[in-house]
Amino acid sequence: TTTPSTERRTVLPIRPELAGEEPYGAPQLDVPVLLNVNENPYPPGDDVVATIADEVTRAARGLNRYPDRDFPALRQDLADFLELESGVRLTHEQIWAANGSNEIMLHVLQAFGGPGRTALSFAPTYSMYPEYARDTHTAWVAGRREADFTLDPQAAAAAVREVRPSVILLASPNNPTGTALPTATIEAVCEAALTVDVDGTGAPAVVVVDEAYAEFRRAGTPSALELLARYPHLAVTRTMSKAFALAGARVGYLAASRELVDALRVVRLPYHLSAVTQATARAALRHRESLLAQVDALRGERDALVAWLRARRHPDGRPFVVAESDANFVLFGTFGDRHAVWQGLLDRGVLIREVGPEGWLRVSVGTPAETQAFKDALTQVIEPDS
Ligand code: PMP
Repeated sequence: TTTPSTERRTVLPIRPELAGEEPYGAPQLDVPVLLNVNENPYPPGDDVVATIADEVTRAARGLNRYPDRDFPALRQDLADFLELESGVRLTHEQIWAANGSNEIMLHVLQAFGGPGRTALSFAPTYSMYPEYARDTHTAWVAGRREADFTLDPQAAAAAVREVRPSVILLASPNNPTGTALPTATIEAVCEAALTVDVDGTGAPAVVVVDEAYAEFRRAGTPSALELLARYPHLAVTRTMSKAFALAGARVGYLAASRELVDALRVVRLPYHLSAVTQATARAALRHRESLLAQVDALRGERDALVAWLRARRHPDGRPFVVAESDANFVLFGTFGDRHAVWQGLLDRGVLIREVGPEGWLRVSVGTPAETQAFKDALTQVIEPDS
């Protein structure tokens, strides 16, 4: 006799390391104030929307054809943007792009990780990193940041020499802490990476500085782009999801030596970046100056939010601890029951993120009205009698 199909248990040959795993992602809830995934709170302006609509219309007329696999025009526009933003001149061959910096990072691990190899990062950091490693059969090692979430250059270099990874991932500014790395720390890691000798080939480890939030860094904090000319094993990743207010379009990019970029081109899927995506990104990049002005305003909001949080106290009189932030979010705490605080805010229509070391919470910088709603809700949650 056969079992009726409705009663049959479906058994699939899932890879053992994926069994029981949940897909990554913050809860997507329908709440008035969304401050949980570090998005830009301002939708693209009418002028940006009009340019995108025009360019996408033009692209739509050619959608019977596959897109340009190597998209030199978009890569040139991204190089021009980086020169405007950081003063570092690069050629289009030194730029790569994909569907979000998430996909960029996967390309990096596909090209430079793999069985028998190790990726190294320093926790607390972006929680997708171990997933890129898992998905590319790369071993994963997380060293520790200091108590204030900085990275000690000597300790980081020592970890590189000990673990001998083929890929090192450094987020700067770091998520979820907001911490930017000084140039000297990145140099120390790049120098240590030169000594790794991956698989006995003499090759250095690839160092990735994830600058997803770099446009929000405070004045005087340099970008790792300045080190590219010295280190062909260094890659700097960026995204249009944050500063460019384009998270929905999924465009991330990378700057590195031409040789490193060429290695990524080997592992990308053919036509991975759609013609619609390319057109959208190029249209938004035409408005780079006004978008950067908006980033300036968000930086000001961030600094004011840090100052406001630093002036708060817990009911027992302890001051809040607030991490230094060079990003568009702030990590603060510490709470004996952070989930209760998170839930209290959610009950008042404000969604933030329960992430980072135990006791801490992360809030993204919103519009002034959203930030006020967060402050009001937090005040009620912390001081229920006021
Ligand atoms: N890196 C860091 C540190 C991030 O926080 C994020 C997004 N949360 C990403 C990369 C990926 O962003 P995207 O894929 O949208 O470019």
